[in-house]
Amino acid sequence: MANLHRANLHPAFSWDCEECGELNFCRAITREVTDDATDEMQQAIRESCGLEDWEELPDCVAGLWLTIPNTVVCSRCGERYATKDSQAGGDSDE
Ligand SMILES: [Zn+2]
Repeated sequence: MANLHRANLHPAFSWDCEECGELNFCRAITREVTDDATDEMQQAIRESCGLEDWEELPDCVAGLWLTIPNTVVCSRCGERYATKDSQAGGDSDE
């Protein structure tokens, strides 16, 4: 065990390519949540936590905030996709 290198693990999302079926992974975009977080970011956090605009952000959201990329590209066939958050069930189709 002592001789093993250490893998530096990063948060990531997985998705399946509809064209070729390849299982793909893409790194999450991580941003550190601090007191000087932008209004846009604080608003996004409030919405996902169900908080009103006037409420203080709880300490539990401090740390890293994960964001999905807008587009992903299949590592095998090169097909490009717009993304949607499967957790939120949102639909970003035009
Ligand atoms: Zn593919």
